[in-house]
Amino acid sequence: MSDAIRIQGLSKTYAAQGPAPAKEALKGIDLDIPAGSIFGLLGPNGAGKSTMINILAGLVNKTAGRVTIWGFDQDVNPRQSRAAIGVMPQELNMDPFFTPRASLEVQAGLYGVPKAERWTDELLALVGLTDQANAYARSLSGGMKRRLLLAKALVHRPHILVLDEPTAGVDITLREMLWKNVRRLNEQGMTIILTTHYLEEAEQMCDEIAIINHGQVVVRQDTQTLLSRTDGKTMVLDTGGPVTLPPLPPGARSEIRPDGRLAISYPPSRLRADQILDVLRGAGVPILDVATEQADLEDVFVELTRD
Ligand code: ADP
Ligand code: MG
Repeated sequence: MSDAIRIQGLSKTYAAQGPAPAKEALKGIDLDIPAGSIFGLLGPNGAGKSTMINILAGLVNKTAGRVTIWGFDQDVNPRQSRAAIGVMPQELNMDPFFTPRASLEVQAGLYGVPKAERWTDELLALVGLTDQANAYARSLSGGMKRRLLLAKALVHRPHILVLDEPTAGVDITLREMLWKNVRRLNEQGMTIILTTHYLEEAEQMCDEIAIINHGQVVVRQDTQTLLSRTDGKTMVLDTGGPVTLPPLPPGARSEIRPDGRLAISYPPSRLRADQILDVLRGAGVPILDVATEQADLEDVFVELTRD
């Protein structure tokens, strides 16, 4: 299996409802997601990420296009394609009367996992809910509910795990627990697809990234190539105190950081660091220390989703 998921010409228009007009949420998406990767799906609010994920999960009907999951066309082999994927949704939707253990058993039943093949206890341990196994779901904290949703996505041991904004609004401990689990599952061979608002997180976690905006893929690249796309570097200088700056070479911009250091951004394709340093030295600016910073995903994202 080389592609875990193939999406061809995927479109979705939500029908008009009362005063709300019809909404074209996806406009012909083509996207292949390689097996074994941690794939990031990024985009501003309303870009269509959840719509796409919910179509993959079989929760939303597409308007047009073709979706192949683990080699199974969703329309031709709906059962097999559903069995290959587990989705942790963005919304905290769960039955308040089920205990975590019961939720997992019910979910396993829905997926037709035979009793002997269930791994309820391991899953509870994996997400750190062993102590709450028999507590009512409504008594669980928000973080615990999220962990239960992760476990639910895994009951049928899917090849592909999809996480829709798994760390939005969760505390740092839960975030770390999630990423540790995600990395471990990926090392065991599971393909991971995630959406996140935290670009730094995507930068650290994802092998490849697609950015979608207004229902279209604007870029899809491996993370390193994507990061090298913007022509921006920043030189951060410790000048030992306030200084008067000489005019900088064209393309360079200066700013004083809150910590008092002088940050100069410049396009490395047109300007070299030593050209800037020469100008500063020539004007007698003391330079006690120099560091450089590469453009990060945030810069790339802003550039590509600018309207
Ligand atoms: P994202 O997850 O990237 O924030 P969504 O897929 O949730 O984006 O939404 C994409 C667009 O589709 C938005 O304009 C949103 O308002 C609209 N939308 C999402 N779900 C529905 C729905 N059930 N009915 C009507 N419009 C919807
Ligand atoms: Mg969403």
